[in-house]
Amino acid sequence: MKIELVRRARDWQERTAVLDCAGKHSYEELLEAAARVASALRGERSDLEEARVAFLIPPSFDYVAVQWGIWLAGGVAVPLCLSHPEPELRYVLEDTEAEAVIVTPATIDQIGKAGEDSRLLPVSEALEAEPKPLPDVKAARRAQILYTSGTTSRPKGVVSTHANLRAQIRSLVQAWGWSEQDRIPEILPLHHTHGIVNVLCCALWSGATCEMPPRFDPARVWERIASGELTLLMAVPTIYVKLIRFWEEQPPERRDELSKSCRRLRLMVSGSAALPVSVLERWKEISGHVLLERYGMTEIGMALSNPLDGERRPGTVGFPLPGVELRLVDEAGAPIAEDGREGEIEVRGETVFQEYWRRPEETRAAFREGWFRTGDMAVVEDGYWRILGRSSIDIIKTGGYKVSALEIEEVLRTHPGLAECTVVGVEDAEWGERVCCAAVCRSGESVTLDGLREWARERLAVYKVPTRLRLLAELPRNAMGKVIKPDVKKLFEE
Ligand code: AMP
Repeated sequence: MKIELVRRARDWQERTAVLDCAGKHSYEELLEAAARVASALRGERSDLEEARVAFLIPPSFDYVAVQWGIWLAGGVAVPLCLSHPEPELRYVLEDTEAEAVIVTPATIDQIGKAGEDSRLLPVSEALEAEPKPLPDVKAARRAQILYTSGTTSRPKGVVSTHANLRAQIRSLVQAWGWSEQDRIPEILPLHHTHGIVNVLCCALWSGATCEMPPRFDPARVWERIASGELTLLMAVPTIYVKLIRFWEEQPPERRDELSKSCRRLRLMVSGSAALPVSVLERWKEISGHVLLERYGMTEIGMALSNPLDGERRPGTVGFPLPGVELRLVDEAGAPIAEDGREGEIEVRGETVFQEYWRRPEETRAAFREGWFRTGDMAVVEDGYWRILGRSSIDIIKTGGYKVSALEIEEVLRTHPGLAECTVVGVEDAEWGERVCCAAVCRSGESVTLDGLREWARERLAVYKVPTRLRLLAELPRNAMGKVIKPDVKKLFEE
């Protein structure tokens, strides 16, 4: 057994690895439970030899025992999304040809017919199997497949090896100073790299404690912050917005208490989508913390981060993380040497994934001379990297100008009548693409296109000012809270 994350757990033994609804679970218990799951999966076989095993399990000790059990048995972990309907689950199960799906009484119905061709294994049954000697699992083996949505094609399975995951964890543990004294709540979906690697794996690698409530609830998170026991918080911008909203609804005395309790945390991190500067500023007023914004992707883990110590610059994602090589290239693929010129981010190093599952063509196309082409545009200013958005969707080509949707959103968000907004480019015979804005008004406010344009013209170059506006009750978002821009585009194309 060579899985370093699991091997390290032996050093922590009685320490609490996971705290869930059922109570505390030590590292020792985790190792034993994982060994049982591994036995249940293997049956008479000595090694799963990279067979895919899917699981649909709410955040809990059982989730971790199953994840580690699959790894110990030599299998590839395929965590399923709790909010996915049957057709999406079916797609993942068929694409991975998962030989088994591990379920709980709460999730078995959700799998429904999607699980017809796989063995359905209740987690309670898996945890009862007798532990047996474990196979030797080398770091070069495939460990995990996570599904990531493209803008045009069906989701692709991102395959990471144990070595990839180890490199991703090591980089973050070093950069963010993880230790066994840390305690973090897991409030992110567990089918996505942010929740899996940045939170869960980094915590367990470090001998820290991961609190796993069944779902995200702002009241509960604030309660845990107020307990003074947490040291870390990691979330996506939408979660910080919800925490801000909850805080604002509290009576003044309680607000005060909650704000004071934030000082006990040593670090709060935001990522997976651009953090609006307005959210960073409001959170600072409330918590006293400057959120550390970082940039990453399922395929590469984390790549850029503002510093743990030192200046965190709003609107930027800081510098390359340890062990991650980055470069910016122009449209011809030539590296850009000078600061201030926009380019596409390319990444190299052990953190970078192995392949798209059974998609050799797409895997080949995703790399250039050994560098992974992220499809994200950025610019380096004074050493700090600033993300301009995905080249395919956030870089809008309008009237001969190239503009960043993220930059326009950042400005529009400061409009007093708007609660939220998103900007997309929609094909147009005259302009190439038109800058279109979908927005949600603050309650009691209404915003017209003419009014918005007049306001925006004083703040943005005229070609960046939206020429179409659609008001919505809410923006379409995925399970990670990210705006689904292709769906927004369709609204304008209809
Ligand atoms: P995912 O693979 O789901 O984590 O999505 C990765 C994508 O999220 C990246 O390719 C970026 O487009 C976007 N992203 C992640 N972090 C940030 C950030 N801090 N700022 C802007 N975009 C981000």
